[in-house]
Amino acid sequence: MNVPGSDKYLSNLISSIWGATRRSFAALLPAECFLCGAEGDIDVLCAACIAVLPRWQAARACPVCALPDTGGGRCARCVGAPPAFDATIALFDYAFPIDRLVHALKYHGALDLAGWLGDRLAGRAGDGWDTVLAVPLHRDRLQERGFNQSLELARPLAGSGALSIHRQVLRRRATPSQAGLGAPARRRNLRAAFKVDVDLEGRHVLVVDDVMTTGATLDALAAALKGAGAERVVNLVVARTPSTV
Ligand SMILES: [Zn+2]
Ligand SMILES: [Zn+2]
Repeated sequence: MNVPGSDKYLSNLISSIWGATRRSFAALLPAECFLCGAEGDIDVLCAACIAVLPRWQAARACPVCALPDTGGGRCARCVGAPPAFDATIALFDYAFPIDRLVHALKYHGALDLAGWLGDRLAGRAGDGWDTVLAVPLHRDRLQERGFNQSLELARPLAGSGALSIHRQVLRRRATPSQAGLGAPARRRNLRAAFKVDVDLEGRHVLVVDDVMTTGATLDALAAALKGAGAERVVNLVVARTPSTV
């Protein structure tokens, strides 16, 4: 039994004292770079690792979907079937070691990375947005993961003065398949994936996400936001994959 004087009580007491001691020592140790383990006065990543991150090059990417290496022109897909969003800005190409950082954030709850990446997103976003929105997770996924990584990334943008509408946009289900649908049915199908409970008439909306792959989810969300009146929808993502397949 866990009563004072029992073995169980004593071992609990020892382990809680040990835990507290370890935590206080950890606070005194120098910070370690998340990627290379270098120690020092480091905020998540060391300067050497930051210098070699695969930065996304706006001048060489599709201005609509951020696909890298189009020479700065619209990619074939954005010309043939333009998505509902107007533009996309990325911080990095989705390549090593950014893929590792995003994975650690998403699947291992490394939330200090979200703060670090979110600060960079906020720096890139600039001003001029009426509304900022993190891509919502479906309720089931949120329960399973315990947090929405896009919302964690968007937190540093909350101070920009833009209205946050995270509570007014719900994700109904995973992005539906678009295969075999004509354009009007495709739009209806896409819009149905999200429910927007706010009037966005004339608003410029900035949508924050971690990785953009096919862009189908962001297309669905932009379609729903425009259905609610948004005039312009721009995606701001941590990383863009080099192809849409
Ligand atoms: Zn490093
Ligand atoms: Zn494109």
